[in-house]
Amino acid sequence: MFRYEDLLKEVETFCRYGAETGVVGESELGERIPYVFVGRKNGYRMIVQASIHAREHLTALVAVCLAKHLLKHPELPIEGGIYFVPMTNPDGVRLCQEGVGFITDKQRKSNLLAINGGSDFTLWKANADGVDLNVNFDARWGEGVQNAYYKSSGNYVGREPFSAAETRALRDFTLRLKPVVTLSYHLKGEEVYWEFGQKGHRRLRDKRYAEAISKYTGYPLVTLNGSVGGYKDWCIERLHIPAYTIEVGNDGFDHPFPYGELSAIVRQNLDLPRRLLNTVVRDRKRLRGTGLDALYE
Ligand SMILES: [Zn+2]
Repeated sequence: MFRYEDLLKEVETFCRYGAETGVVGESELGERIPYVFVGRKNGYRMIVQASIHAREHLTALVAVCLAKHLLKHPELPIEGGIYFVPMTNPDGVRLCQEGVGFITDKQRKSNLLAINGGSDFTLWKANADGVDLNVNFDARWGEGVQNAYYKSSGNYVGREPFSAAETRALRDFTLRLKPVVTLSYHLKGEEVYWEFGQKGHRRLRDKRYAEAISKYTGYPLVTLNGSVGGYKDWCIERLHIPAYTIEVGNDGFDHPFPYGELSAIVRQNLDLPRRLLNTVVRDRKRLRGTGLDALYE
């Protein structure tokens, strides 16, 4: 199992090998949410985030492996830089893997046990406050068909958009970096979500990149109805950039998802971030000054 402490060790290793590392912000319990940067600093940027859902902690290790691949292969051209945020929800991952033992606040501990209905947290998706971070973004917030309006192991939208420390941290990080594209890794289903009401040229553009992702990974494109408030949704609706959710891992397996699938998943996604960023950047450069660059504003 890939734990939060393993991630911190990996981040140190990246640092030793000369990669820039840093902190996106802090979780509800005050833990650092680290990032690892690969590529060129003065170019276009991409964000790859994973494990926003606690029980999908395998995706944190996937993100680390993808970042490592790029670090090991500096000869592969990158048209900019990629910020990998492997574990957006560190508290949730700890809860999922360790239970409430590490929670020091007694009140929080008993609340969490009550919300969860027991001490087995292996299927927990939310943060340490019972908020599902991927429905807490300000993009048709609270209108989802599966949304819950009470604290829960999953699907609770929070008091208001960005009520959770982790979503505020990722929002502010994203606004500061102004990425040209984002990828969110989730588990499971082997599918790609790309749609959130884009119209006209932006719709064609985002679908075209989605088709390229599908071709590379072998995962089909899926249009979700009634799913709102996610990071990808917010990137599309508020930032007008192409943004994708990739559900890795075969649906034939149940949660807790077997780590034995890691190498297959990594293989299917190995060079995806770099290829996607390069494609998006080349399009931007090609359209610069043609009048069509308004497409990207
Ligand atoms: Zn998920």
